[in-house]
Amino acid sequence: MADAPSTDFYASFVKSGPGSFLASRLGLPQPPTLRRYQAGKPPLAGPVLLSGTGRLVEPVRELLAGYDLVVNNAGGKNAEKLGGAVFDATGITSIDQLVGLFEFFSPQLRSLANSARLVVLGTTPELISDPAEHIAQRSLEGFTRSVAKELRNGATAQLVYVHPEAPTGVSGLGSTLRFLLSGKSAYVDGQVIRVSDKEAPAPADWDKPLAGKIALVTGAARGIGATIAEVLARDGAHVIVADIPAAGEALSAVANKVSGTALPLDVTADDAGRKVAEHVKARYNGLDIIVNNAGITRDKLLANMDEGRWNAVVAVNLKAPIRLVDSLLEEDALRSGGAVVDVSSIAGIAGNRGQTNYGTTKAGVIGIVDAYKSILAAKGITINAVAPGFIETAMTAAIPLATRQAGRLMNSLQQGGQTIDVAETVSYFAAPSSAAVTGNVVRVCGQSLLGA
Ligand code: NAD
Repeated sequence: MADAPSTDFYASFVKSGPGSFLASRLGLPQPPTLRRYQAGKPPLAGPVLLSGTGRLVEPVRELLAGYDLVVNNAGGKNAEKLGGAVFDATGITSIDQLVGLFEFFSPQLRSLANSARLVVLGTTPELISDPAEHIAQRSLEGFTRSVAKELRNGATAQLVYVHPEAPTGVSGLGSTLRFLLSGKSAYVDGQVIRVSDKEAPAPADWDKPLAGKIALVTGAARGIGATIAEVLARDGAHVIVADIPAAGEALSAVANKVSGTALPLDVTADDAGRKVAEHVKARYNGLDIIVNNAGITRDKLLANMDEGRWNAVVAVNLKAPIRLVDSLLEEDALRSGGAVVDVSSIAGIAGNRGQTNYGTTKAGVIGIVDAYKSILAAKGITINAVAPGFIETAMTAAIPLATRQAGRLMNSLQQGGQTIDVAETVSYFAAPSSAAVTGNVVRVCGQSLLGA
């Protein structure tokens, strides 16, 4: 799948012979080449070290069937560098036991392959009644986010909190582990994901986790939305791509590329929800996945903001995704086992100068996830959001050069993300194998320093 051509001339320059020499001499950042998913290729650049004393080690061994798992990497005996390391920290029930993190990870940090993946597994702190265990488990977050900032060469670290009463096989954890232990999470770093106690069977084929599903992606004529449509189709879904009627030709081109269906639709129109519901009921007897990606910016400092800019951004980014889901629920057009995925932004977490309207709506999107989690769970539907950071698109190409370069470099991976990085995260959320993943907001930002 073709990524958007990178316009990061700095990254291209420092990867050249003279550029690399100059960057080393001057101590300038040298963005690593991230290892991304390729069908048929091993998920990681080396074996995965699995350790820990908690309740999850054994189930994880089963869940990672097909991975090259190793149980120790001491004394440099393993000539190969590690592609990943998973540490089950659920056995840590006191502050003193936290030293186990140091003891496990510290010796491994010098033997990591390019784009290695560190994953810490814990127990969801807010569901733990014992104060000492609650505090110890909550501490894992600071460890993971800090070690992520120390890693080099495209390596990342994430924390997964698993429900204390998750059934023995912990099937609900499988999709999250496979996402994190692969190139699909190349630009996801320093994140915390919560997995519930719901069972989630593995798909017949991990390369086609959306087989047989019907998905709708709004704002799909270009940018992130077009790539989301491509990835959902790659993963087995039939994709309906929607965008404003003026996007006509570009929308048809995306629909053709993904062998899907084009649906001209202004998401702010009064009848948008009804139109989608009628379309999916008539043709597919319902919808499984909706990705609310359509979004706009109308930047101005608040002092210079006019009501038109404010209202336009609120209408597209916040009101439309709510109304669309409400209409689909009213019309009973969203099937059980389905997924809603919303697109937020780090501007909705950290705030951004000149984007009070946009930041408000993107924080509101996180509110949608919180507010609809229980409503949708009652119908067997998940809801999660991605919060992209600096992604190479037409939207970010329009940012003035100096600000753009700063945006690219101010994260642990020292580069902008690609649209595919957001799309991979959306597909992970959308899959039936992620039935135990709901109510999460995952940043796809290379661990941006903004709002960290
Ligand atoms: P983009 O401008 O390239 O694409 C947005 C698409 O949405 C366009 O095709 C547009 O026609 C469509 N759209 C706008 N209004 C619509 C409406 N009323 N009805 C239907 N479609 C409509 O933007 P992008 O960079 O691909 O961003 C996609 C999403 O990701 C947005 O929600 C954006 O806020 C979010 N995001 C992007 C970045 C980034 O770095 N590019 C960062 C954070 C969040």
